[in-house]
Amino acid sequence: MSNERHAATEPHQGPDRAHDWRSLAASQVRTQDQVPALFNKVAGFYLHRLHIDITRFVGQACVRLDDRLPSGATGLASWVLQTPGERVHSVCIRLLPGDTTLCTAGVLAHEVFHILSATWRLKLSRPHEEGLANLAQYLFLKHEPGPYAAWLAGQLHADEDPIYGDGFRQARWVYRQVASFRGAIAALRQCRDGQARKLAARLCEPDSHLRSLLCKTRIPARMATGTLQPR
Ligand SMILES: [Zn+2]
Repeated sequence: MSNERHAATEPHQGPDRAHDWRSLAASQVRTQDQVPALFNKVAGFYLHRLHIDITRFVGQACVRLDDRLPSGATGLASWVLQTPGERVHSVCIRLLPGDTTLCTAGVLAHEVFHILSATWRLKLSRPHEEGLANLAQYLFLKHEPGPYAAWLAGQLHADEDPIYGDGFRQARWVYRQVASFRGAIAALRQCRDGQARKLAARLCEPDSHLRSLLCKTRIPARMATGTLQPR
C-alpha cells in the first residue's frame, strides 16, 4: 500500500448496476464483526478472478482490525516461520479501522498477496513484491462498480513512489502482456529489477523460448517459507 491513507470521498452520482457500491463507498469498517464479510469478498475475488484459493493459507480469523499500525500504514501482513524447513505456520493481517469498506477491502487484497508470496516462496524483489500486491488491489477495485472504486484504482496509477508506484506500473504492464495474474507472477519471478519490460516484450515474440520456459514454471501451491515483512 501507499503510505497515504485514502480519504473517504462522496461518490459521484451516476449509472448504477444492481450492486451495493454506494454502501461500500459510504460505510466504514470500524468493528471486528465486519471483517468476515470483507474477507469473503476478497477471497471470492481471488478465487473467481485470479483463480487462487487463498483460504488454503489464510483464514478470516487471521485478519483483525488494529488502530496501532505504524504511522501512515493502512495494512500490515506478518507471518511466523517454523524451523527447520522455514515453513509458514501462522499468519496475521492487520487492517487500520475507520476507512471505507471498499478501500479496506482493497488493502486486504494487497496484504493477502504478501501472505501468498510468503507461502509460495516467491522471493520477489521489493518493487515486484509491492507491485504485484498493488496489482491484486487494483484488479479487485477494477472489478467493483461505481466511480469511487475507479477513483481508488486511479490512486494506484498516480502513486509516484519508486517501489509501490513504479512496481505497480511494471507489474500491470507485464500482466497486460501475459493476460494472467499467475503469468505475471511467474514472469516477475524470473527477472531482476528493471528487466520486467524487456522480459514481457520477449514474451510477446512468436515462438518465444521464454514463453515456453515460463509455461513450464510451476508455482508451488503448498505452505512454505516466510519472514516478517511490513506492508
Ligand atoms: Zn505491501
